[in-house]
Amino acid sequence: MSSVYSESPRLSDRMGRLAFKPAESSSNGHIRPATPEPSSAISTYNDNAAPLVSTYNDRIRPLLDAIDKLRHLKVMKEGIELPTIVVVGDQSSGKSSVLESLAGISLPRGQGICTRVPLIMRLQHHPTIDPELHLEYHGKIVHTDETYIAEDIITATDEIAGNKKEISNTPLTLVVKKRGVPDLTMVDLPGITRVPVHGQPEDIYEQISGIIMEYIQPKESIILNVLSATVDFPTCESIRMSRRVDPTGERTLAVVTKSDKAPEGLLDKVTADDVNIGLGYVCVRNRIGDESYEEARKEEAKLFQTHPLLSEIDKSIVGIPVLARNLVQIQANSISRCLPDIVKKINDKLNQNMSELKKMPNHLSSVADALTAFMGILGSAKESFRKIFIRGEFDEYPNDKEMHCTARLAEMLNELSKELQLKCENNDSGDEFLMEEIKVLEEAIGIGLPNFLPRTAFLTILQGKVGEIASIPVEFVQKAWKYIEKVVLDVLMHHCENYPQLQSSTRRAAQNLIAKLKEQSLERVMETVEMEQLTDYTCNPEYMSSWSQLMIQEEPFMRFLKNLGDYDASKVNLGSLGTVEVRHLKKHMGMVQQAFDLRMRMTAYWKIVHQRLVDCLGLHLLYSVKNLVNKGIDREIANEFMGPHGGGLERMLEESPSVAAKRQRLNQSIKVLRESKDVVADITDRIAAYAN
Ligand code: GDP
Ligand code: MG
Repeated sequence: MSSVYSESPRLSDRMGRLAFKPAESSSNGHIRPATPEPSSAISTYNDNAAPLVSTYNDRIRPLLDAIDKLRHLKVMKEGIELPTIVVVGDQSSGKSSVLESLAGISLPRGQGICTRVPLIMRLQHHPTIDPELHLEYHGKIVHTDETYIAEDIITATDEIAGNKKEISNTPLTLVVKKRGVPDLTMVDLPGITRVPVHGQPEDIYEQISGIIMEYIQPKESIILNVLSATVDFPTCESIRMSRRVDPTGERTLAVVTKSDKAPEGLLDKVTADDVNIGLGYVCVRNRIGDESYEEARKEEAKLFQTHPLLSEIDKSIVGIPVLARNLVQIQANSISRCLPDIVKKINDKLNQNMSELKKMPNHLSSVADALTAFMGILGSAKESFRKIFIRGEFDEYPNDKEMHCTARLAEMLNELSKELQLKCENNDSGDEFLMEEIKVLEEAIGIGLPNFLPRTAFLTILQGKVGEIASIPVEFVQKAWKYIEKVVLDVLMHHCENYPQLQSSTRRAAQNLIAKLKEQSLERVMETVEMEQLTDYTCNPEYMSSWSQLMIQEEPFMRFLKNLGDYDASKVNLGSLGTVEVRHLKKHMGMVQQAFDLRMRMTAYWKIVHQRLVDCLGLHLLYSVKNLVNKGIDREIANEFMGPHGGGLERMLEESPSVAAKRQRLNQSIKVLRESKDVVADITDRIAAYAN
């Protein structure tokens, strides 16, 4: 018999592809591929207690135990994938039957959906005659035995996924310690159904394929694809899915069940390999009806020995014992190949979590601690403000342009200047040239000599013009403070990120202070506008020089107007004032010269007014911001925090729930990773010992 199940060259070829190569991937050089014992160690199953795969398990066992421990520690939650054999297959393809054959136990089975949650099956050989079975789920352990196992799995499934037909991806672990079982950990997944049966949700297909994908996607997973001999392989849903994540099939192994039901053409199907199964096929016959496990194995052996068609199939690819041996080997190779990577990932993740924990605020235990922390926050926030508002240093926010405040404020001032300019120019174009001045002059005329320019006329025009632009500086102030407020709040919230109990009073304080400062700015700007309306004054010599420059045009302009005949072209180019139509001025000849002068004075003066407004606002804004940073903000925050609504320093002593939760999560994760590190350290030491 033993020659029947001896190892074939084809199998070792395939294994070779998966085998761990120390030269490539070992960081410490200790890990060796688990090499199988000679075929004599693989026993047959004549004898009740005979193992499917025997003592070379002793080497694999510690590897597998380590992986099982890691799984138990839930390192997968930390984003670390473990090598796993994942059983997939269409519904009723015989997945549970295969697992049952490997474990020598009875699992729930039937036509409907039975496997509704991922079932992690941990098979362990143990020397005593009595098998030991238990289920692990929802943090508890339920002992069971071969008689009740089916029932207990159903109860556990109902508890996890509800007692209808729903599915869930919370796994259920079944540990089978039994003499002679191969040391294997496998995950049985719900079978794929296209059509929901009565009571199942509409999206059952999406749900199941989601779970399956989650398990087979990681490169660390070995896909055990269960195919029924009665179907055409390329049409299997499970084949479609496994090919999506493993197109070359390098980590896919196929088990063909129900060989007894469809022996015709089976040999061709598995030799043709239409569906890219890189790790090869194994044809089996599972337990039928009430057969015992031992009877089933005998029937299987007999079938492949004697059936006219099935006996043609190479003995190295038939039978449950072959499947068990292949799986153990594949699993060992896969684990040794993944281990260095797992060690690295555990270390990386551990370091990352520890540094994150270090960055978290210390737990405050006294008022003095709290005061120190509070002052620290204020100090660092102020330093940030100085950097971004005053010194224009953006090292804290290199990529956030909104926080480059000196540049943004300068931009706003430029816009203000442009807007003021635009508004004045637009107004000029409305009326006929000089008519506004003439109308004002007509009203300002008094009993006196005609060659004195009445000052009231100039003031009237000035007041009108300033009145028209008065809303622009006010809007500017509002916009600028809105921006400043946003930046201030962002910076403050960033600095008290770890003390949520500080946030609301800090926010309130900043908002109050900014509201006050904004009010002051508004008063200030309205005052400035009012002052501009009150009188005309400047000591800037530019006024005189630009007025004289403009007045050079007076003489030619007046001459042109005097000589203007009825049919002459009546447009005059006035240089910087543009080209203007002048015919209408013929009717007001007495006023034109004064009006012209008035216009030129206003043009020269307006430049001064415009500059003065922008300069003044710019300086004022910087002054206010500086006051906010240097004088106002910390006092305001301290007042608010220590005041009746702030809660005071005592409140800082209570850690906020979100920070506490984060701290706890990190601590928990570090604990798991440290334990995992010990587990893998232990196993690599042992492997090193084997190597010696
Ligand atoms: P699952 O839905 O993929 O878990 O499939 P099950 O393991 O529940 O099997 C579905 C049906 O196929 C059951 O009635 C099994 O008894 C039957 N079955 C499984 N394997 C074989 C086999 O090798 N030969 C025969 N004749 N029937 C099988
Ligand atoms: Mg099943």
